[in-house]
Amino acid sequence: MKLTLLGTGTPTPSLKRASSGYLVEVGRDVMAWDHGPGSHQRLLQTGKRAVDVTHMFFSHLHYDHCADFVRLFLTRWDMGADRVPELKVFGPPHTRRMIELLFGDEHAAFGPDINARIRHQGSIDIFVARGGKPPRRWPKPEITEVRAGDRIRGDGWTVTVGAASHVQPYLECYGFRLDAGEGSICYSGDSGGVAPGIVELARDCDVLIHMNHYFSGTEPTEVYRLVCGNHIDTAKVASRAGVKTLVLTHMLEQIDQPGVRERIIKEIREIYDGNVIWGEDLMEIPVKGPHMFRME
Ligand SMILES: [Zn+2]
Repeated sequence: MKLTLLGTGTPTPSLKRASSGYLVEVGRDVMAWDHGPGSHQRLLQTGKRAVDVTHMFFSHLHYDHCADFVRLFLTRWDMGADRVPELKVFGPPHTRRMIELLFGDEHAAFGPDINARIRHQGSIDIFVARGGKPPRRWPKPEITEVRAGDRIRGDGWTVTVGAASHVQPYLECYGFRLDAGEGSICYSGDSGGVAPGIVELARDCDVLIHMNHYFSGTEPTEVYRLVCGNHIDTAKVASRAGVKTLVLTHMLEQIDQPGVRERIIKEIREIYDGNVIWGEDLMEIPVKGPHMFRME
């Protein structure tokens, strides 16, 4: 089991932090959890390629969590040359409609592109050179729209869907928890305040990846706090859930500064006594690791 942070940033463009994306590898399955702008480049930097990805999970459909899915999906279909299984996609309501509008048929946003690659002789030649056998098939991802409480089972793993606190009712927003023989990982998605759904979902997890957008007290309004959270609320979620390691992510440049980072970690540790990791793009998180070296 392997967990890699692909994108730990926000919607604000950043060369240091891609927008939200995580890579979870269990057995033969390679899962992308969200795929925001820049995440796909990070995926390539890990040595993985689009064709290696077997499952796509969307926590919610804010663009900073899904805009690079277009690149992942088309690259996987094109390079896969009908030799990789259809992508399995799980996400909130509207996931199916979004994918159909993007890739569903020749009238979809990328319909003319897909159509040309299927029909033009030059594209067919490239398809054959990649090992494909004409006629080339239109991509047909296996889409499942999920709700809080749902369970998805894979090869040696289970993903449970939980309710996040973000921008409902306009977008459904979820967190995910993966349980496998080697450990458990919970991802809050975007979640602010001390969300009961995330506390419950993350209960006793090895690793909790949690949005940490604001330094407590700097949120412009109380609504911002409930939508995007702050470091004190993040600490309370981790403490109440009893997780072993807390990974901070979705960080604004304003808090990603020397001195501020240290203060945030110190103040989190006053509330939460597990390990605290300041997430960075391309960081590999040991799922069972750091708490073994805990200094009491
Ligand atoms: Zn969001």
